[in-house]
Amino acid sequence: MIPPTFDYLVPATLPEAIALLHEHGDEAKVLAGGHSLIPAMRLRFAEPSHLIDISHIPGLDYVREEGGFLKIGTMAREVVLKDLPWISERYPLLVDTTKMIADPQVRNLATVGGNLAHGDPANDHPATMLAYRAEIEITGASGARIVPIDEFFTDFFTTALEHGEILTEIRIPIPPSRSGGCYLKVERKVGDYAAAAVAVQLSLAADGSIEQAGIGLTNVAALPTRAVDAENALRGQQPSDALFAQAGQLAADASSPADDLRGSAEYKLTLIRELIQRALRRSVERAQGRKARFGKIIFSEKS
Ligand code: FAD
Repeated sequence: MIPPTFDYLVPATLPEAIALLHEHGDEAKVLAGGHSLIPAMRLRFAEPSHLIDISHIPGLDYVREEGGFLKIGTMAREVVLKDLPWISERYPLLVDTTKMIADPQVRNLATVGGNLAHGDPANDHPATMLAYRAEIEITGASGARIVPIDEFFTDFFTTALEHGEILTEIRIPIPPSRSGGCYLKVERKVGDYAAAAVAVQLSLAADGSIEQAGIGLTNVAALPTRAVDAENALRGQQPSDALFAQAGQLAADASSPADDLRGSAEYKLTLIRELIQRALRRSVERAQGRKARFGKIIFSEKS
């Protein structure tokens, strides 16, 4: 379907974009990569009167380490993350996630900021940012504010962004040494949204025990979900199959999936239990500096 008509505006600076959002009220929307918004407009789920394209504003697409954080400018496109060798080395969870978003055509334009701002529990970055304990910088007419990721997703397709505000930066705390992470996703076909997916990020203490753990879940509830009880169960413990099975069960307990075309609720809970165990094993391997393995789930795989 063809979207309804709208005015297309191209600000050259962030203050100009914010002023345009205020000028055109609730009916105006930010356009970043357009790969969630344009399909929603074509389906008439969104009918903005004005699109404010922020992709021509210089300086919003950086990826750099600074002040204890990996800082990702909102317009950084997925393809950029995938192609930076130092990101692959130091942020394998982030790269796993990027590689599993849609297909190369989408990743060439889709932005990390847009993926989060959309507030879709089926998108892949929200769970990853929950696992990383990221922070979100939001800029409005009165300046910038920082929102912890736990407070960013407030309802179904709803975030802490107020009207007139723009998500400007994602901040991931730089992981300590002996850290590893992993994103595992089951999808019906290549490029699809997840039936279920898990993001795991952990750090090991000198004695090999799990010092810190972050776990995010994709598409198994109305909001991106953090599996807090599973994280607590892991902290301070030596890695073991029994511990990972317990964490898998606790993560399933934190999920409330619905039956849909991607599978029954029961199937998705089974996926969460299994994916958590595999992601924990792989994250520990990576934290120990053992060979990192990427890839989608192959059901015959032995971890
Ligand atoms: P846009 O579509 O431009 O914007 C999305 C929403 O966020 C809009 O409401 C917009 O107003 C708002 N917004 C964007 N940027 C900002 C900002 N800086 N500040 C405030 N509001 C903002 N995603 C996945 O995670 N996993 C998948 O497997 C996946 N598969 C896909 C398959 C297809 C075929 C397609 C078309 C998309 C798929 N997506 C998937 C979604 C894709 O990754 C989107 O591009 C992404 O979710 C949104 O990023 P964007 O830059 O395109 O945002």
